[in-house]
Amino acid sequence: MADLKKQLNILVQLQATDSQIYSLNEEKRQKPQEIETLKASFEAEKKNLVNLEKVLLDLQKQRSDKELELASKEESAKKLQIQLYQLKTNKEYNAMLQQIQDAKADASIVEDKILESMDKIEKVKKDIDEEKKRLQQKEETFNAEKKKNEDRIKEIDERLAQLDLQRKQIIPDIDKKILTQYERILHNRDALAIVVVKDNTCMGCNMFVPAQVINLIQMYERIITCEVCNRILFIADE
Ligand SMILES: [Zn+2]
Repeated sequence: MADLKKQLNILVQLQATDSQIYSLNEEKRQKPQEIETLKASFEAEKKNLVNLEKVLLDLQKQRSDKELELASKEESAKKLQIQLYQLKTNKEYNAMLQQIQDAKADASIVEDKILESMDKIEKVKKDIDEEKKRLQQKEETFNAEKKKNEDRIKEIDERLAQLDLQRKQIIPDIDKKILTQYERILHNRDALAIVVVKDNTCMGCNMFVPAQVINLIQMYERIITCEVCNRILFIADE
C-alpha cells in the first residue's frame, strides 16, 4: 500500500484524539462516586451533633422528672406541716417535726440535682452551638467541592464535544478496513490501538520487537501489529 505511511500518520493523530476522549470519559465516570464520597463524609460529620442533641433531650427529661419529684416532696412537707398543729402530744409533735425535716432534706438533695442538670444542659447547649458552627463550615466546603466537580463535568462535556468533531474530521481520510482494525484494537486494548516502537521496544506493552518486524514496519506494505499486545506498530520519523 503506497500511502500506508500516510495512513499510519493519520491513525497517530486519531489516537491522540481518542486517548484524550478515553481519559476524559474515565475522569467523568469517576465524578459521581467522588461527589458521593464527599457527601458521605459530610453526613458522617453530622453524627456528633445528633448525639449531642440526644444528650440534651435526656438531660431535659431528667430535669423535668426531678422538678416533678421536688414538687411532690415539697407538697408532702407542706401536708406534714399542716398535720403538725393537730397533734396532741409532745412525742407525736417531735416525731412529726423530724419527718418534716427529713422531707425538707430530701427536697434539697433533689434541688441540688436539678441545679446540676441545669449546668450540664448549659454546657451541652454550648457544645451544640459550636458543633453547628463547625458543621456550617463543613457544609460550605462540601458545597464548594461539589460545585467544583459539577463544573469540571461541564468542562469535560464541552471538551468531549470538541474532540468528537475533531474525530469526525480525521476519520474520512482513513481507509475503511484500517479504521475497522484500529477501532477493534482500540476497544479491546484500553483505548490504545497504535503505538510507536522505540529502542526495539513496543511502547504499548514494553516487550521486545525483533529487527525483522521493524523491517516489515518500515516497508509499509501492510499493517504490522505487536506479537504480544496486538497493537498497530509504527516507527516515528527521526
Ligand atoms: Zn506490544
